[in-house]
Amino acid sequence: MKSELEIRFWGVRGSMPVCSPDVVGYGGSTSCVEIIADNGTHIVLDAGTGIQALGMHYLRNAMPAHCAVFITHAHWDHIQGLPFFTPAFVPGHQLSFFGCNQGALSFRDVLREQMRSPYFPVELESWQADIEIKSIAETTIDINGLTVTSRYVEHPGMTLGFRVGYKGKSVVYLPDNEPFARFDPAKVFTEISLGPGEPDMERICLLDQKKNFFNFIRSADVLIHDAQYTPMEYATKVGWGHCSFSTAVRAAIYGQVKHLVLFHHDPLRTDAQIRDMLQSCAAMVRASGAGLTVSAASQTAPALQL
Ligand SMILES: [Zn+2]
Repeated sequence: MKSELEIRFWGVRGSMPVCSPDVVGYGGSTSCVEIIADNGTHIVLDAGTGIQALGMHYLRNAMPAHCAVFITHAHWDHIQGLPFFTPAFVPGHQLSFFGCNQGALSFRDVLREQMRSPYFPVELESWQADIEIKSIAETTIDINGLTVTSRYVEHPGMTLGFRVGYKGKSVVYLPDNEPFARFDPAKVFTEISLGPGEPDMERICLLDQKKNFFNFIRSADVLIHDAQYTPMEYATKVGWGHCSFSTAVRAAIYGQVKHLVLFHHDPLRTDAQIRDMLQSCAAMVRASGAGLTVSAASQTAPALQL
């Protein structure tokens, strides 16, 4: 590879996998993104159904010396490919899994439960690779020179987002996120401050959320963000934990991101509709005068090079 970081999309769909002629352009597998550094390190973000094809790719070509898999949360579309990730069943492979606990359920138990009878016939204990499973919360982890920083995001249950840094490049991964759902967009995407007098609790809360969110995505080279809905669809789905492409674009512009990748495509979204969304995004960017690039995550497009 010529670049320092490469991003490959093995699964781009939200909620559930789909297969039809209308979706083959962008792909129908659920969330799985691979980041490859020029030092040979592989980081995998989420284990939706896309990780099955990634595992087969590793076995047919070359298995990385060590593969670190970071899981944002335990909803099906982010873990359902895990029982079919064949490298985990092969002795000698080095695999690490990182993710957060879900209440009293440890991250290890989260992975184990979906591979327990009657849901699946082969249990987690059947994995024969050299496996490490670690519970994390908000932290920064070094993976062979790549830093992976985790932050909780706005989504039902405990859900993490990740920022990967390497040689001055950064990739932020927020596949399921509904930021600022209860705030006025006019206040979210403009500079506001606390006025004199009585503390305004709502404004304090908004400022706190803005600080957390925009510090996390600020100036990222690539932001892979939830864009499950159109603005019209979102109006009836507030609180579901996902956002519209227009919110993703506004956030990316305000956060001075260089390249926004629309992600977590709705299962009902066709290739033609994704292309329409990209045209709407381009119009928003033009109107703003920002230099943002917007694309849509695709399992069939060439890998992104950074
Ligand atoms: Zn999801």
